[in-house]
Amino acid sequence: MNIHEYQAKALLAEFGVPVPRGQLALSVSDAVAAAKALGGDVWVVKAQIHAGGRGKAGGVRLCQSLDEVEIAATALLGSTLVTAQTGEAGKQVNRLYIEEGLDIASEFYLSLLVDRENESIAFVVSPDGGMDIEKVAADTPDRILTVPIAADEVSVQESSSMAALLGLSGDQVDDFHQLACQLHHMFRQTDGALLELNPLMLTSAGKLVALDAKFVVDDNAIYRQKAVADLRDLDEEDPREIEASQFGLNYIALDGHIGCMVNGAGLAMATMDIIQLKGDRPANFLDVGGGVTVDAVCEAFKLLFSDDHVKAVLVNIFGGIVRCDIIANGLIEAIKTHPMRVPVVMRLVGTNEEEGRAIVKDAGLDVRWADDLDQAAEFAVTASRGVGQ
Ligand code: GDP
Ligand code: MG
Repeated sequence: MNIHEYQAKALLAEFGVPVPRGQLALSVSDAVAAAKALGGDVWVVKAQIHAGGRGKAGGVRLCQSLDEVEIAATALLGSTLVTAQTGEAGKQVNRLYIEEGLDIASEFYLSLLVDRENESIAFVVSPDGGMDIEKVAADTPDRILTVPIAADEVSVQESSSMAALLGLSGDQVDDFHQLACQLHHMFRQTDGALLELNPLMLTSAGKLVALDAKFVVDDNAIYRQKAVADLRDLDEEDPREIEASQFGLNYIALDGHIGCMVNGAGLAMATMDIIQLKGDRPANFLDVGGGVTVDAVCEAFKLLFSDDHVKAVLVNIFGGIVRCDIIANGLIEAIKTHPMRVPVVMRLVGTNEEEGRAIVKDAGLDVRWADDLDQAAEFAVTASRGVGQ
């Protein structure tokens, strides 16, 4: 789960990490009042959306007067920001963060992530912050350093190697060590999956400050991260994914044409692979899971049938704990309100497969049956072409 920059900065501040002073604004008058309250004569008006690349897209505006703050806030609030990370549709700006403007001497890149290979939390740092870190990694890999943290705390040796690459010296090396310890502590305490400061900046007065912040909490830990979970902003998430999550379905929207309903993540991945192999693309990843109910299956079919991108549905169920009759009954329930407007290909094998097939056949549904996954994918791809794209 993602949170907004201003929320991530509040968390950072709780753990002692220096961040610019700032205030949230939900209206233009809020924005001007926030700037006044912050004082000073330079402010930064920042669009709060769950995507980076805002700077290049005009979502981060440096303002030299309260009038400019008003102009920037008016332009941004309610607008749709298209950045390199939002996709073509962009994201609507509903919240602004108004910050004091700081003098930047250097911009660094710093992130913490879970390094599975080393079974540790790792820091990634680069002196080339504020830029496309993927580009730095590709073009100048020697300007990026990954440091897996070996123990429960960051050692002086570990932080010094990072500070050296960033070109820090004197007191700044100690400051950086303290910062690294605070970040590492926060990451562990809040079950972080990713914490990215791009940029971490050095002010002209030589202080390290987190100028941008992205924080992703591990979804599997949300149950014990109540305070972070409360920061969820549903406006930023795909409505279909929210709906699916309410029914315990593992659903991720994708951009292809074949709607998939599968049980088990491995089988779902294999199904998506074979669709690609047959020359089409899946419209979603959907694992209905083991203990699925008729209601949840019904909801899953509704999601697939109401998605305009879906030109054919492929049901691939290998019934173990999942019973095929539950899947069939879920389909019968769904079509009461959401007609089967696209071809449906079904491969139902395993527990109660005869019952499942009988339920669908008795209801007179026009479903194409497949004996195995290969055939099912073939049928679905052909069917989706028939519907036209
Ligand atoms: P992103 O583009 O979505 O990653 O947004 P950032 O928060 O990283 O902001 C983009 C850029 O705006 C930064 O790299 C800085 O160069 C600039 N910026 C942000 N805050 C300030 C500030 O307080 N003062 C100045 N001078 N520039 C800022
Ligand atoms: Mg940034």
